[in-house]
Amino acid sequence: MSSSLLEVFLDHAHRAPGQPLLTFERESFTYGQLATHVTAFARGLKQRGLQPGERVALFLENSARFAIAYLGVQSAGGVVVLVNTAYRQVELAHILSDAEVCVCVTGAAGAAELAPLRPQLPSLQWLVTVEPPTAALPESLAMVPFDTLLAEGTASTAPLALPRPEDLAVLGYTSGTTGRSKGAMLLHRNLLANVRAVTEAWRWTQKDRLLLALPLFHTHGLMVGLHGTLFTGASVDLRRRFTAPEVLATLRDDASLTMFFGVPTMYSRLLEEARASRVKPRALRLWVSGSAPLSPQLFTDIEAELGARILERYGMTETIMNTTNPYDGERRPGTVGVPYPGQEARVVDVRSRQLLPAGETGEIEVRGPHVFAGYWRRQDATAESFDADGWFRTGDLGEFDAQGYLRITGRARELIISGGFNVYPREVEEVLAMHPAVAEVAVLGLPDADLGEQVVAVVVPHAGTSAPEPQALVDWCKDRLASFKKPRQVVFTDALPRNALGKVQKHLLRASLSTAGT
Ligand code: ATP
Ligand code: MG
Repeated sequence: MSSSLLEVFLDHAHRAPGQPLLTFERESFTYGQLATHVTAFARGLKQRGLQPGERVALFLENSARFAIAYLGVQSAGGVVVLVNTAYRQVELAHILSDAEVCVCVTGAAGAAELAPLRPQLPSLQWLVTVEPPTAALPESLAMVPFDTLLAEGTASTAPLALPRPEDLAVLGYTSGTTGRSKGAMLLHRNLLANVRAVTEAWRWTQKDRLLLALPLFHTHGLMVGLHGTLFTGASVDLRRRFTAPEVLATLRDDASLTMFFGVPTMYSRLLEEARASRVKPRALRLWVSGSAPLSPQLFTDIEAELGARILERYGMTETIMNTTNPYDGERRPGTVGVPYPGQEARVVDVRSRQLLPAGETGEIEVRGPHVFAGYWRRQDATAESFDADGWFRTGDLGEFDAQGYLRITGRARELIISGGFNVYPREVEEVLAMHPAVAEVAVLGLPDADLGEQVVAVVVPHAGTSAPEPQALVDWCKDRLASFKKPRQVVFTDALPRNALGKVQKHLLRASLSTAGT
């Protein structure tokens, strides 16, 4: 049996080298062709001195080269560090120094962003660039064009060893929604166990062809989209980025496609575009949504417009995929389904850590071969996240319904305990969002001498309307919710702080409200 996804991919390439694997813009690669490039990239890295376990960052847009570099680093025994392409100096300095990255594969914009950080990144030795850099690089930072490294590797016979199951494959940095992003250590066996479970649950076979416009630096695009393709010997139409008209036209024209994966925003844009242009996509075998909640309304609208019931699933950087709606059974809007085969999920009380029955909200915990090995150089955070029996605390709140489908209801860290009562911010946010003057809202808890914590609402009023009276919003909540859930304070702002994936960063809001003395 194979020990890594890399090994499975190389086996496919050996047995069926002519099988189509990937198209990107004007390029296309068979399994055999991609494997040749992967091996050359790995040898090029080794020849230039990369040692097993050293970290190589990919700060790169989607492309075939991303896939070559990703597999090439692993084939050389290195550890891939994934970096969001929206990141700029502050996030880059944090991730590249935390991971002690020695090599970074990047484009012209990435090289320009990295150059001034050189003094803060003593471990960074050289860059592999997919385009000529436009800015001058410091002398101490060597630069090798991607194609030169491939040519060097092609001429080399440096020996390559297959990874072992316990070897570190990837440092996946979390999105930084609840604090500074942490490096999740994913082992080769984690990647393999999860891709096996996902492809089994979704009946993914070699006959499938996926349209993939999600970023490869993130779990959803890479560890579901690309991994599933490589594992099953299937093929993928990879896009640099998502644009609704282009994706919709492809979904109408390309009869070879069988699957599309997206985040909810992509689905709402596709829906708008389909309504405006009257373009109808062909029927696909599988449409998947994840990374953020898919509203039941959007689920129903998509079903009406496209005739497809989207399959929603739940995952995270630390564990890849946790739960999924069934492929064959009922797909329930507003839920993320059941655990994948061979994996477990449960809901426990946030304080007592006791198992909760269906219908009660608590923290979601997961266990199984997909769960990461801990946070990179963060023993404190790792120890806090696991219990003695190996359950991982996801930090997400949720509840099971009577049929065992999981519903996500928010983040554990954001749970407010006010006067001994639990207040779930999402519930209060949903009520405030229905007020006609409210464009956006975030609800959080601030310390309170009497209540322990008090409920505070930060509201962005609709453009062009004057901000409503705070008391009017408090009354709005009081009419619709238990009184202990109503905000004690309403603060107005122009915009909510969001991270690169568009998720609201409440820790920043909390910090700014605390320093403002409110
Ligand atoms: P950080 O851990 O740094 O605070 P993050 O948790 O946002 O950031 P990711 O690992 O990218 O970083 O995101 C995983 C989170 O995304 C999950 O823990 C969950 O909160 C959310 N998520 C993923 N899929 C879904 C889904 N289908 N519905 C609701 N939330 C989801
Ligand atoms: Mg997280």
